[in-house]
Amino acid sequence: MPQYANDPSRKSWIDTPADSDFPIQNIPFGVFLTRDDVITIGTRIGDKAIDLGALHQLGYFEGIPLTDDIFLQDTLNDFISDGKKTWRLVRNRIAEIFDADNAKLRDHEEHRSIVLFDLDEIEMQLPVQIGDYTDFYSSKEHATNVGSMFRDPNNALLPNWLHIPVGYHGRSSTIIPSGIPIHRPVGQTLPAGQDEPVFGPSKLVDFELEMAFITTDANQLGEPIPVDEAEDYIFGLVLFNDWSARDIQKWEYVPLGPFLAKNFASSISPWIVTLDALEPYRTKSPEQDPEPLPYLRYTGKKSFDIKLEVDLKAPESEPQTIAKSNFKYMYWNMSQQLAHHTVNGCKVNSGDMMGSGTISGPTPDSYGSMLELTWRGEKPIKLNDGTERKFINDGDTVIMRGYCDNGKQRIGFGEVRTTLMPPFSPKKRK
Ligand code: CA
Repeated sequence: MPQYANDPSRKSWIDTPADSDFPIQNIPFGVFLTRDDVITIGTRIGDKAIDLGALHQLGYFEGIPLTDDIFLQDTLNDFISDGKKTWRLVRNRIAEIFDADNAKLRDHEEHRSIVLFDLDEIEMQLPVQIGDYTDFYSSKEHATNVGSMFRDPNNALLPNWLHIPVGYHGRSSTIIPSGIPIHRPVGQTLPAGQDEPVFGPSKLVDFELEMAFITTDANQLGEPIPVDEAEDYIFGLVLFNDWSARDIQKWEYVPLGPFLAKNFASSISPWIVTLDALEPYRTKSPEQDPEPLPYLRYTGKKSFDIKLEVDLKAPESEPQTIAKSNFKYMYWNMSQQLAHHTVNGCKVNSGDMMGSGTISGPTPDSYGSMLELTWRGEKPIKLNDGTERKFINDGDTVIMRGYCDNGKQRIGFGEVRTTLMPPFSPKKRK
């Protein structure tokens, strides 16, 4: 099906600044609470949020096979279950409705007042009910950096790493949308040089710059997804900050991998940018040597050129960019991750979320975590307010942004912004 929605020459009657992440070619999907306290599925053009539930009720999706309540839900799971053909029909129709030359809604003041919201009138929610969350570890640079620090610089990558998209099953209950503050976690750590663990607040709270993709119902139990079909089951992507407590992680992660160091919070950007919208930004993945096993060999370009930035905002200060990376650095691409995830017959459902793993680039200013940027605290980052950071302090805000720009067209993800608060203090009993 042609993707009219991606037509780069299309302009919208909604005013959209040139540097907007959300031109009419983006058409992401999200869930928001409106000024009337109604939860609806929506999209965004420029700085306007669009109530798709209301648009559907007003008949603007006539001719597309959609159930009456498909957008009047508090998650996108059912819409995602409808599959790629329906996503494309809906994106194409939205592009038509908001095309500068289409007067139908543009000149209908009453309908416009029902459908359009300013961003300060809405509150973005988690866009999907995430049944299962898997986090990969697919950046060679990140795995090499962490292996060098935690183990041995001469054998930084474990023997399996170049053969398997390594991952672990995470916890979906603590995935939260941008804007929700988190508490510094407490837990067990083993102080350097000691034999016995201690209990208390983590001293090494870190972010991980990641992206995550969201799947539709992909397979039957027992059925693997071939690597070259995997993209049919990927709905879209979000920015993903996989908060991590490095000291807790170091003590607990052997032999089964991360546990409480990772499951206290992971923050996502609220608008899911579809894989379809990212089509113009395909690019080659890094060369893989040794060649992977046959089920992981793919054809074509399966990576995407998505520029990524991390800002750190100290309390009372302006945000400051501390890292710039790119999604295209991932050694294992999403198709390989999904093929590997299901090769044993593991079932993948609508709304499942797969994190990429920390996306570090080749240079020290492109590392995707404080652990790497400060090299375990040995090279603190100097902030504009004169203070230094080895890891994240209470009151600091971490802001991640992502966008594609090929010189003709920009498509972005907006941001994921999270403030770290002091440890949770239980209310005293009277
Ligand atoms: Ca991670």
